Amino acid sequence: MNDLEQQQSEVEPDRAPTVGDAFVLMRNADDESRWSIHCSECGHRYGGIENDPKLGAVLKELSISDLSALNSVGMTERLVARQFFCPSCALLIAVNVQQHGDPIMLEWRLDPETLSKAR
Ligand SMILES: [Zn+2]
Repeated sequence: MNDLEQQQSEVEPDRAPTVGDAFVLMRNADDESRWSIHCSECGHRYGGIENDPKLGAVLKELSISDLSALNSVGMTERLVARQFFCPSCALLIAVNVQQHGDPIMLEWRLDPETLSKAR
């Protein structure tokens, strides 16, 4: 049993909610009213559900032509591909194409009160 499976078994294994294939949401052991985002592969804790897990991920920037050769005719000087990985197991969790210099695009934030009511 790996760390994630052990953590899930301690928190009702069949009831741990997921977000896509990359994340598992779990209640905090020290405060059941709070939730954390964990890697679905290794159990790494990204932080509370109030923050986008990309803020706790490893970032790699590439040219958009690295994603596809077809992009080499596009705005390669203006755009950057940002890949976000789990810092523990390197699971790819997100890819964003943005303009160079733009801040990390934060895409989601979950409300713990709403999540607790749904479970
Ligand atoms: Zn991981």
